[in-house]
Amino acid sequence: MHRQIHAQCTLELDIRAVSPLLLQGQQEEQGPASFYRAIDPQDKRKKYCIPATSLKGVWRSAAERILRTMDDSLVCDPFNQDTDATQSCSKRFENSSPENVRHGLCPACRLFGSTAQVGVLQLQDSWISPKAKVENRTGIAIDRFTGGVKQHALYTIAPLAPGTSFRVRADIVNVDLWHLGLLALVHREMNEGRVRVGSGTHNGLGHVAVTWKLVRFRFPAGVRNTDSLPAWLLENARTAETEGWRSNPWVSYEVMEDRLDKLKRACVEELVGKLGKGRQGFAPITQEGLD
Ligand SMILES: [Zn+2]
Repeated sequence: MHRQIHAQCTLELDIRAVSPLLLQGQQEEQGPASFYRAIDPQDKRKKYCIPATSLKGVWRSAAERILRTMDDSLVCDPFNQDTDATQSCSKRFENSSPENVRHGLCPACRLFGSTAQVGVLQLQDSWISPKAKVENRTGIAIDRFTGGVKQHALYTIAPLAPGTSFRVRADIVNVDLWHLGLLALVHREMNEGRVRVGSGTHNGLGHVAVTWKLVRFRFPAGVRNTDSLPAWLLENARTAETEGWRSNPWVSYEVMEDRLDKLKRACVEELVGKLGKGRQGFAPITQEGLD
C-alpha cells in the first residue's frame, strides 16, 4: 500500500491497430476466433475490450527486456526462485523489512508490482472507440501437440481491422519521471512493431501505434511538491482547476499533445540518469510514499 500520496499522474493514450488485431476471448461455438468483448460499466453495453491485465502484461515484459539490455541484473525474473541476481522480487522480499524492499526492489516491480509491494501503475480496461471494423481471415489450424498441420482443419479468425483504436488510461501513484520514461520506451517499441499485442503476432498481427494524448500531474495543494518536475513543464502546462474538498484541494498540471514529445525526452533522460546506480537508484526519494 502507498501510505501517502505525493503526486499522481494520469496518462491518457490511444492504441490504434496498424495490422489486424486479435486478442482472443471465449470462442463462440463454431464461429471464428474473435476479439475479446466485455460489458463496459459506463453504458452497460458489450464492447471490444483490451483487459488491463493483458495490456499490463505486454508493457511489463517489454519494460523488463528494455531494462535488461541496459543492465542485466537490474530487473528480476518473476519465475526465478533461486537466490541469484535475478531472483524474483516476490521471493527475495517475502519476509523483508519495508526498508529492504525500498532499496532492493527492481524497477519493473516498482512500476508493475510484486507480492512484496503493490506497483505504482494502475491500468484501466481499454474500450474500443466507436465504428470498429471486423475482418474475417482464413487460416490453417496447427496441432498444438505435434506442431504439424491438422488435417482438414481450416479455421477462420475475425480480428479487428487496422485503424481500430482503443482509449487507454493509466494512473501512476507517487509518480517519478523515470516511470513515464520507461513507458515511453515501451510505447516506442510497440510503435516500431517489435512489441505486439494479442495472438498471431508471428503472422503479422498485433502491430499497434501508441499515441500519448494527455499527461496530467496532480498534487495535494498543501504538499505541492513540484520539485520533481522540470521548470519548463510547470511554466507551460495548463493549470487545471483546483478540485477536491476545500480542506484538501488538489492542483493539476496538464501537458497536452504538442509538449508531450519534450516531456517524453525529459523522462527518458531521467531514466537513463538512474542507470549505473543499480536498483537503489530507482528508490523513491521520500520514504513516506511506501509501506
Ligand atoms: Zn522485481
